[in-house]
Amino acid sequence: MAALSPRLKQATGVLAVRGEGVHLYDDRGRAYLDFTSGIGVTSTGHCHPHVVRAAQEQTAALVHGQYTTVLHRPLLTLTERLGEVLPEGLDSLFYANSGSEAVEAAVRLARHATGRQNVVVLQGSFHGRTMGAAAMTTSSTKFRAGIGPMMPGVVVAPFPAAFRYGWTQERAADFALEELDHLLATVSAPSDTAAFVVEPVLGEGGCVPADARFLTGLRERADRHGILLVLDEVQTGVGRTGRFWGHQHFAPEDGRTLPDVLITAKGLASGFPLSAIAAPEELMAKARPGSQGGTYGGNAVACAAAVATLEVVEREGLVENAAVQGERLLAGLREVAAVHPAVADVRGLGLMCASEFTDADGRPAPETAAWVRQQAEERGLLLLTCGAYGNVVRMIPPLVVTGEQVDRALEVWAEAVAAATVPSKD
Ligand code: PMP
Repeated sequence: MAALSPRLKQATGVLAVRGEGVHLYDDRGRAYLDFTSGIGVTSTGHCHPHVVRAAQEQTAALVHGQYTTVLHRPLLTLTERLGEVLPEGLDSLFYANSGSEAVEAAVRLARHATGRQNVVVLQGSFHGRTMGAAAMTTSSTKFRAGIGPMMPGVVVAPFPAAFRYGWTQERAADFALEELDHLLATVSAPSDTAAFVVEPVLGEGGCVPADARFLTGLRERADRHGILLVLDEVQTGVGRTGRFWGHQHFAPEDGRTLPDVLITAKGLASGFPLSAIAAPEELMAKARPGSQGGTYGGNAVACAAAVATLEVVEREGLVENAAVQGERLLAGLREVAAVHPAVADVRGLGLMCASEFTDADGRPAPETAAWVRQQAEERGLLLLTCGAYGNVVRMIPPLVVTGEQVDRALEVWAEAVAAATVPSKD
């Protein structure tokens, strides 16, 4: 009899049989507060009745259309609805199944549109595991080691990770932009550079927000050099950070739209596999015919689930809820950090929050992070670690999370951190 590959290893010990809202239930009926959202996917919570109904009805009507063969209504409706929430000017959409595929579609588009090869990514980035996306991923060696040769034409620039450098955010932004200018002068001339590909908040790289100074600087350089600014909002999109798109926290003062291309996936369809890239129509038209696409992209059931997701996000005020509950969560995490020296930094935007663990010498402490995560799980709270060293524990609950659930998670968190046997700061 076949068994699961020994490499298919779960971060938690949970055999999930049912999900409802912020809760997952295991095969013994035990409830867990799911502050992982299946890595930021279950935006409307597990099995939101409106999303379930939309998917059921679509399944009975038409599962698969294949959009290069026929059109279907959910694809058209979703395109219309996304048009209402996308930044000004990004009026053309292309669909795929996963974040990685959408990232690669954006790179193909950028190379076709500019006739240039290089893409600049940032240190700590995660853009996926397919071969192209893996080449653009620098958040951990585990995503790259031993799978080369990697896709050529990827240049890595610093991210303004203020905590890592021990600087103010302003200084980190200036440093990152100066280094980028240096790279453009030495390693990747503008005439060779097709795109900057950027997460507004590093997700897998440790939940590190960028800032307005840095993103405005990127926009200016993109304009100056004819380079496309591609924002990977796979994790930060659809309300996660307390704005519909993460980059809206960092909008330029002149009101210009930041991205030339925006990538969305994860929370878009509440768990159904769906991703999209959005760009101005004249830019999208530069993708060469036949270069983009796949059998399942824009699947009818996934599109129907995405339409229902956007309806729930709007009707239930989930973007606002993410902002309010995110602040509550961040404040609570800061209180815990204030009395536990092992927590060296707390940061986040909306419902994308994290605590970073270090040892007494300020070095990354992945064992402590893993231990605390395990302690939380034993107390019924599911969390994930992230960061280059695995020493960051993040909280990314569904956007439907309530204040009571945040408080309960914080109670468990305080116990779990205390169980890491770190002495009090008092
Ligand atoms: N980009 C970002 C910012 C992500 O967080 C992820 C997934 N964690 C991806 C791309 C890849 O998405 P997928 O796993 O759907 O291919």
